[in-house]
Amino acid sequence: MGKKGISIAIDGPAGSGKSTVARRVAEALGLLYVDTGAMYRAVTLKAQREKISLDDGEALTKLANELDLSYKKMPDHTYRLFMDGEDVSDEIRTERVSTGVSLVAAVKGVRRALVERQKQMGAAGDVVMDGRDIGSTVLPEADYKIFLTASIHERAKRRWLELQAQKVDVSLEEIEEGLQKRDYIDCNRETDPLRPAPGCLILDTTDLDIDQVVGKILSLINNNP
Ligand code: C5P
Repeated sequence: MGKKGISIAIDGPAGSGKSTVARRVAEALGLLYVDTGAMYRAVTLKAQREKISLDDGEALTKLANELDLSYKKMPDHTYRLFMDGEDVSDEIRTERVSTGVSLVAAVKGVRRALVERQKQMGAAGDVVMDGRDIGSTVLPEADYKIFLTASIHERAKRRWLELQAQKVDVSLEEIEEGLQKRDYIDCNRETDPLRPAPGCLILDTTDLDIDQVVGKILSLINNNP
């Protein structure tokens, strides 16, 4: 299809299917895909490696400003995140990082640094960006704004199935508790809390599979060029 210059913001809580859907929509339309959660996760990983306390806002802000992050599309169409030249795409998905990331993402200075980078990445358009504050803060002028959501139980079940496939031994209850904590911090932080952007399309994906969600988004775009 290759529509030129369009930008699509996809926001929602953890486990709403955002990244899979955003990646598929980008692929279908020939657009760049940017996973902003990966950037917050990389800052968290670096802080944990350097034993920086996750409530030391000043040190975390410094880290977020200085960290060398690059996001690359590989020949097999997957995207990998490089931190100081090292491919950290797998390590940023560990439970240790997932548990700490919302604290890091609540630090104003960290958000300022990463939002600035994300705005630059989105400035040229032809992009699908997913996160928590894309439609409201990073790309407020996006052509399409979508907010994906699903019941907490369904979201926990999706994460659990993903982790089962990776042979990670964790209970559904633990996942649900972790998601609830993360949602709470994300929705109640002072800077750019998670909430639907004005004018966005809210899609509840509890009873929809990935193909159906992608189909709905593509028809929204095709019907509202
Ligand atoms: O999308 P993902 O689950 O990888 O995001 C990890 C965390 O990063 C979220 O729980 C949230 O705290 C933070 N985040 C954010 N703003 C974004 C993307 C992610 O605060 N745009």
